[in-house]
Amino acid sequence: MTLLSISQVRRRFGDVVALDGVSLDIEEGEFFALLGPSGCGKTTLLRILAGFETADEGTVLLSGNDLTRVPAHQRPINLMFQSYALFPHLSVAGNIAYGLQRERLAKPEIRQRVAEVLERVGLAHAAKRRPQQLSGGQRQRVALARAIVKRPRLLLLDEPHSALDRKVRAEMQLWLKELQHEVGITFVVVTHDQEEAMSMADRIAVLNHGAVEQVADPVTLYGSPTTHFVADFIGANNFFEGKATASGLNTSDFGQLPARAGAVAEGSKAFLAVRPEQVTLNGGALSGRVLDVSFYGGLSRVAVSVDQRDTPVLVHQHGAPRVAPGDTVGLGWAAEDAVLVR
Ligand code: ADP
Ligand code: MG
Repeated sequence: MTLLSISQVRRRFGDVVALDGVSLDIEEGEFFALLGPSGCGKTTLLRILAGFETADEGTVLLSGNDLTRVPAHQRPINLMFQSYALFPHLSVAGNIAYGLQRERLAKPEIRQRVAEVLERVGLAHAAKRRPQQLSGGQRQRVALARAIVKRPRLLLLDEPHSALDRKVRAEMQLWLKELQHEVGITFVVVTHDQEEAMSMADRIAVLNHGAVEQVADPVTLYGSPTTHFVADFIGANNFFEGKATASGLNTSDFGQLPARAGAVAEGSKAFLAVRPEQVTLNGGALSGRVLDVSFYGGLSRVAVSVDQRDTPVLVHQHGAPRVAPGDTVGLGWAAEDAVLVR
């Protein structure tokens, strides 16, 4: 069932178009990610959903009810800020209880709900500590506890892991996904990190310059991107430019290259996108010379220079490299492993 329905939302700041007609449906219970580069409008969209910012045009419906004019504090929506915004003078328990106290819930109920949520985020032992006595990961747990204790219909998280170092970040991504499954609240997470979005979300909307490029589950986004931007932003890719044909791409430099049709109509301008792990080095449509080989343990990355092409073709091989710089190689791929994008 659709929980949140965002329709044709626009927002500009002076000359800057932050959101250029965004439409999205988010399902009840879903872990949804908004992914895009810095400045593409992610935070603006979250702030509009939370009610801290108003759209110039468009509507936001929650379970069919128009939220557009509902003030932030009356929405069953919580926003977890990028900075966590914890109160330094309050204990962990005090931070979590704060929102419930403002709603004037009875003291025993507040105590019980705070204890419950502390248990859930694994911080029961730290209830009396102050935020500055906690690690980054623990602070994030407090911020989350404070957000879910109010039992919102929707929880919005703005770059929740940006303050954490790499290793803690990977742990927290796993943990956040588990937590979302346990509590069953719909999450909308903003991130500029494609791996983070891919590893956590049920579905991802890729934003670019204030507009939605594609909405899909992670496997579809990776395997069947519809635009050059998505194919380039998510993972690594090799691109060729030309015209879509029935069996691939017609290029001026290399003739016909094999690909499946994808989202482009025959005869239109298109790009062929093929992932480095799909390209083989033993014969095929193209030939080139190995420029560089780097070994990464489980993976070797090979850069192959091809005449009439500015950028080398990247090829990933499992395990140790089987070619050396200077080797002449053929480059090939199966038609079903390359996709045509706009
Ligand atoms: P993201 O979160 O994806 O990095 P933002 O939503 O913060 O992007 O910003 C989108 C664009 O709108 C940016 O160009 C940003 O500079 C601009 N912007 C956001 N908020 C304001 C504001 N309050 N005043 C002026 N410009 C803003
Ligand atoms: Mg932002």
